[in-house]
This record gives sequence, C-alpha cells and structure tokens, in this order.
Amino acid sequence: MPTSPMIRLNDGNAMPQVGFGVWRVSNEEAKSAVAGAIEAGYRLIDTASIYGNEEGVGEAIRSTPVAREELFITTKVWNDRQGYDSTLRAFDESLARLKLEHVDLYLIHWPMVGSEVYRDTWRALIKLQQDGRAKSIGVSNFMVPHLQRVIDETGVTPAVNQIELHPRFQQKELSAFHKANGIVTECWGPLGQGKILSDEAFAAIGRKYGKTPAQVILRWHLDHGFVVIPKSVTPSRIRENMDVFDFKLDADDMQVIERLDSASGRVGPDPAVFA
Ligand code: NAD
Repeated sequence: MPTSPMIRLNDGNAMPQVGFGVWRVSNEEAKSAVAGAIEAGYRLIDTASIYGNEEGVGEAIRSTPVAREELFITTKVWNDRQGYDSTLRAFDESLARLKLEHVDLYLIHWPMVGSEVYRDTWRALIKLQQDGRAKSIGVSNFMVPHLQRVIDETGVTPAVNQIELHPRFQQKELSAFHKANGIVTECWGPLGQGKILSDEAFAAIGRKYGKTPAQVILRWHLDHGFVVIPKSVTPSRIRENMDVFDFKLDADDMQVIERLDSASGRVGPDPAVFA
C-alpha cells in the first residue's frame, strides 16, 4: 500500500503530502468513500463544516482499524460563523459532528471580501491551538495582504494556506510568498476539478512513465513541494491518485507544464470578490 511522504509545518507538526478531499460528497457517501480512502493508504482527510459531511467523515474514522493518531483530519470554519466567539462555538459544533477530541488542522475557509472579521477569527484559532484542540491552524483562500495582516497583528504565521492551484492556475506569486514565510501551500482543485485532465500534454508525459494524466498532475504538485487533496468517490481513482510515489517528472516535463499557466485558468471563486 502506498504511503504519503510527510511535510513539516512551521509549528513543528507534520502533515501528509497527499490527502483526500470530500467536497460535494454527501454524509452517506462520505462514510464509504473516506473508509475506502483510508484503506487505500490516505491519512489526511479534508472536510469543512459547509460540506455537510462531518458526521459521515467521523463515522468513517471510527469504522477503520487505523489509529486516530495516524490520521490527519482537517475542517474549516464557514463564513457566517466568523468572529472570535462565534468561531469557538462553530469549532465545538464541528468536533461534536465529527465526534473527535481534536482536529489536526483547522482553517478559516475564506477571507471574505469587504470584511476584516478574519482577524478576530484568526485570534480564535490561536486560542484553539493553545488549548490543544486544533493541533495546527491555518487559512484558506487568503491572498498576500490577508496573510501579512494576520502575521503582523498576532505574530502567528498560518501553518497552511489552502488555495486553488493546478497547472492551469499556478499562483506563482502567492506560493513564493508562502515559501518565504514558511507557510505550506495546500492545493484545492489540484486536478482543476477534472476540467484540465483532457489536455494532451498530461497524456503525453504519462506515456513516458506508464501513468495517467491525473497522476502526472499530482506528481507535478508533489515535485513543487505542495500538499494535494484530490477528490473522487470512485474506488479505482481513489487508489490511482495515491499511486504517485514511484516516479518523478524530469526538467522537460516540468517546463511543458509550467507553460500551461494562465491568468484566467481559475475554476473556482476569486477570493478578491468572494464574500
Ligand atoms: P479536484 O481537482 O480534486 O477534482 C475532482 C474531480 O476530478 C472529481 O470530481 C472527479 O470528477 C475528477 N477526478 C478525480 N480523480 C480522477 C482521476 N484519477 N481520473 C479522472 N478524473 C478524476 O477538485 P475539488 O474536489 O474541487 O478539490 C479537491 C478538494 O479540495 C475538495 O474535495 C475539498 O476537500 C477541497 N476544496 C477546498 C476549497 C476551499 O475553498 N478551501 C474549494 C474547493 C475544494
């Protein structure tokens, strides 16, 4: 069974480099999909309160023989619960749905344009980490000014920023800021939500290694040092997305993929306008 490498975080903890995302997976589906993913070797599970499947994820966790300490569970506070007290309550509710004592990573889901409430939310996350209930804390969809602001105000740098990033939307400036500040880049939509898989470039590279386009794209992320959380509910694809540790892209492959970057390559909402 493949095992993901671990990535060191700026707070001393470590997270698996390949995880399993469960957006658009129902509670019912989450039970079997997450159990199947854990059986296939995944140890990082990425959910969020807004996904409405924390109960199913929790059930799957309890159903597997894999020890809780070996799993890395992420959830996120949704926009309408941001603020200091409200986030602390939202966190309690997430833990109750998951039936867990702690999560391994708690994230602010969006910075929410036009509001600066994320600053109070961040202070709540710092409290949760101090209390040991969120082992690591981070953010999602934050842009450089948001990151700079929470770092300057609290002195606590998010361990992770989970952002849309894939070969069609490479976010080079933001990921360089992450690197310079010790923030791990975790890529959501690592496969461009499936929309970029048909590009012939990935099939051509895959033929050299006997790998699929999805595996080539995931390998590109890993070779950049990013964390990825591909989503699938198809058992063969769940296994396929984890089978990416026995090859490496060469400099030519990396260059071909580098050239696919496009300023208009986003598949999800733009944090600069999303509230
Ligand atoms: P993704 O890039 O993981 O693409 C998922 C889609 O790709 C699937 O629906 C499936 O159709 C297809 N796919 C997956 N594996 C495949 C394979 N091997 N071969 C062919 N097709 C395959 O997109 P995503 O689900 O949006 O992102 C992954 C995870 O990131 C989510 O499940 C969620 O956990 C997280 N996420 C976070 C945010 C955020 O705002 N923080 C936003 C979106 C997603």
